[in-house]
Amino acid sequence: MTKPALTLYLAAPRGFCAGVDRAIKIVELALQKWGAPVYVRHEIVHNRFVVDGLRAKGAVFVEELEDCPPDRPVIFSAHGVPKAVPAEAARREMVYVDATCPLVSKVHIEAQRHHEAGLQMIMIGHAGHPETIGTMGQLPEGEVLLVETVADVAQVQVRDPARLAFVTQTTLSVDDTSEIVAALQARFPAIIGPHKEDICYATTNRQEAVKAIAPDCDALLVVGAPNSSNSKRLVEVARRAGCAYAQLVQRATDIDWRALEGIRSIGVTAGASAPEVLIDEVVQAFRDRYDLTVDMVETAREDVEFKVPRVLRVPA
Ligand code: SF4
Repeated sequence: MTKPALTLYLAAPRGFCAGVDRAIKIVELALQKWGAPVYVRHEIVHNRFVVDGLRAKGAVFVEELEDCPPDRPVIFSAHGVPKAVPAEAARREMVYVDATCPLVSKVHIEAQRHHEAGLQMIMIGHAGHPETIGTMGQLPEGEVLLVETVADVAQVQVRDPARLAFVTQTTLSVDDTSEIVAALQARFPAIIGPHKEDICYATTNRQEAVKAIAPDCDALLVVGAPNSSNSKRLVEVARRAGCAYAQLVQRATDIDWRALEGIRSIGVTAGASAPEVLIDEVVQAFRDRYDLTVDMVETAREDVEFKVPRVLRVPA
């Protein structure tokens, strides 16, 4: 039986970013250095495949520090943690390694700096996301006000409109965030913010790549986890860029083949915490069913790499 023809537009950049790569390396090096079990507070990155792989090597994932025994090392996830968490680990005299992405740590430092200058902070982010919890937790309770939408900007009650600064979550939609920033600047003209916003290079590049392919795609799949903020944003970006059917899949078995009946083109990308092996699996699933032409569309090159913490570095 002849297979139907299908063009698969593969977005580049896609998948792992430097912060995710570093966080996974930190867990692997910690396992080498201290042996199993090594505890990890929260999923090290939001991907079940990655978490299961590390669990099989001896990592134990917990949600709170109190779930870790004091005599085993603990690693804090790439999303960052409130200041109280390392403070508590130090109080319990635990060995801990912070795998917070350096680009999230940069936002923590910004928030701290503004706070020390006497400014009240506004954070643009998603309530309940670990990165938002971690960034808000850099400052005393009540010092960071969260806004999630343009509508929130109209409601937010500030101490002094002349003494305000904002930071953002790193994995937001670039377009939505610039609307929220514009609303903040319109209501609080004196507000101070980062030069652009704090959305990281990986989030920005993956959204740009999706915008480049989405208008040509009958459907688009984002390989990523349902709790991955940057992956969910890629689905939204694809829909907004003109692709009516955009869906998140964790791996090939999630593909709804019936929904894809009759398509002539498909876009594929992946969130920053999805490993390439899962993208290969999805591409192979299409190759099995279609006479596939793969067209990689590269909109940026990435060469960002972050060093692992000194405590884990092995001498060359
Ligand atoms: S998505 Fe951005 S902020 Fe998050 S880990 Fe990757 S590089 Fe760091």
